Amino acid sequence: MATWKERRAALRAAVPLDPFVREDGFLLLEEKGGDLQGTCPFHDNDRPTFYVVSSRGFFHCFDCGAHGDVVEYQAKRADMTDEQAIEHLERRVMDGDEPIKYVGGE
Ligand SMILES: [Zn+2]
Repeated sequence: MATWKERRAALRAAVPLDPFVREDGFLLLEEKGGDLQGTCPFHDNDRPTFYVVSSRGFFHCFDCGAHGDVVEYQAKRADMTDEQAIEHLERRVMDGDEPIKYVGGE
């Protein structure tokens, strides 16, 4: 049985953060050298303080300090624990009904 840490690492590899965040639907203002910059989904703000560093798989907000990987993004957005977010993402990756279409890259 894989540990939470191993399962999290597998999800980080399987679910690139950039398309995952795009799919979330909030407006991303700019794309720069593979990274995304836009308004933060975790606090009320209309300035582009939120960055998604796709190559390293994490996000960071320079205003409210929100920071993390795809699991933390899911957990924060859906008010889940990290463990619940891991299980939710695993279901999405594996479930034929709701495939994550970008698994394996573009
Ligand atoms: Zn923020």
